[in-house]
Amino acid sequence: MAEVALDLSRCQGHGRCSLLAPSVFGADDSGLAVLLVRKVPTELESITEEAAYSCPEAAISVMREGDPE
Ligand code: SF4
Repeated sequence: MAEVALDLSRCQGHGRCSLLAPSVFGADDSGLAVLLVRKVPTELESITEEAAYSCPEAAISVMREGDPE
């Protein structure tokens, strides 16, 4: 289980996150990211981290359970 945070003040609507992890990220009418789930199950952790890594605005952070706060 991992927890995802989305900083909408950084999001520019590139849509990479929703393309890579459509079960975690959606998009609103203007293309900005929408977080569909905040707690990501283990099987979606890798793709969620990939989406975070791919976000050009560094708007996504992922904290795995057990990570230091
Ligand atoms: S990849 Fe980043 S900037 Fe693009 S829509 Fe997703 S959160 Fe926003």
